[in-house]
Amino acid sequence: MDRQTFNEGLLTFIQQSPTPFHATETMAGLLLAAGFQRLEESESWELRRGGSYLVCRDGAIIALRLGQQPLLESGAHLTGAHTDSPCLKVKPVAERTANGYLQLGVEVYGGALLNPWFDRDLSLAGKVSFLDDDNEINSCLIDLHRPVAIIPSLAIHLDREANSNKRVDAQKHLPPILACMHQEESYSFEEFLLTTLRAQNGHSGVQKILSHELLFYDTQPPAIIGLRDQFIAGARLDNLLSCYLMTRGLLDASADSTSIMVCNDHEEVGSASASGAQGPFLKSVLQRLVSQENTAIDAFERVLRKSLLLSIDNAHGVHPNYADFHDPAHGPRLNGGPVIKINANQRYASNTESVARFRHYCNREGVNCQSFVMRSDLACGSTIGPLTATETGITTVDVGVPTFAMHSIRELAGTEDAEQLYRVVRAFFDR
Ligand code: ZN
Repeated sequence: MDRQTFNEGLLTFIQQSPTPFHATETMAGLLLAAGFQRLEESESWELRRGGSYLVCRDGAIIALRLGQQPLLESGAHLTGAHTDSPCLKVKPVAERTANGYLQLGVEVYGGALLNPWFDRDLSLAGKVSFLDDDNEINSCLIDLHRPVAIIPSLAIHLDREANSNKRVDAQKHLPPILACMHQEESYSFEEFLLTTLRAQNGHSGVQKILSHELLFYDTQPPAIIGLRDQFIAGARLDNLLSCYLMTRGLLDASADSTSIMVCNDHEEVGSASASGAQGPFLKSVLQRLVSQENTAIDAFERVLRKSLLLSIDNAHGVHPNYADFHDPAHGPRLNGGPVIKINANQRYASNTESVARFRHYCNREGVNCQSFVMRSDLACGSTIGPLTATETGITTVDVGVPTFAMHSIRELAGTEDAEQLYRVVRAFFDR
């Protein structure tokens, strides 16, 4: 696959994935189209060597290709990322009117950079649970696609300090505006969801809305930009970019080795959930895989020790206007290649052996890799890497492509790095 085709696929994937639920289903769709078989966690599994499978749990997905060699001999080659991004999430009792405008109350999900959310054409997507005509509880995904809301800035004339001292009060300043309301007019968000679901194919039998998880997102599509077309600008690059390159890597690798990718939800809020990296999802799937082929009492632990995880999440490139926020000797550059992330305090899980193995894969693919360590006087972020390593004991390396504006509503990456990391992941899955 050439770089342009890869990047076009990435942009399409991001646009089809406004929420973790959508990202999971978009990945599942790509994998199913390539012959992967969907497994249900609530059923018993019969897996065969050489088979390709996927399992979804809420906004998380695990996909795997079983190699011809027994797991106990080869271990597993794993990659991990996360499906969620910081955003604004609709509150349970959402509708409110103030000064003649209809608004929806929102909670901030994760460590969002809030200022960029102002003056954007926002749409709404997520999962809705409802009672159907047979009195069964069902859930489905919705995406309004069109811009239905906006959070207008306060004019600078009313806030003269906006450029030097802008404070965002999440409770007061963030509820998006959806419509002008007449006096006496009332509005039911639940009624709106009911109409929307009924308009969607196959959901005519919706009796009552019971619950929802809906997220606002920016309708501006991701794009290749820059004088020389060297940048990818788009929402949710952290971490859909990594989800996509892992999926492509798994699809395009040969079927010889046991390759597993896991995309967890809730990384941006600490990963402690049933579908998060601190939860049991990966371990439970691995246990079931191993028990299919070997019932020895120590088989599971032996497979874990023979396995390696690439934890893939974006890194901070050196921003030319803010270069002194980086350690002078560790300045990843956009389009300079994938970044290995290292932290003495285990905010990243990389150790000397896992770094060496990743670097070796890069060298073999002719891909330059860079390294990142936080300035010693700044606190370091983290990823699913240390949590997955803690939960499973799998040797892990934290890597990712360099980006700008992490956690903004529109982030920036280079056009070369994701495709390069995809090639390394494919080679890693290929062995
Ligand atoms: Zn991330």
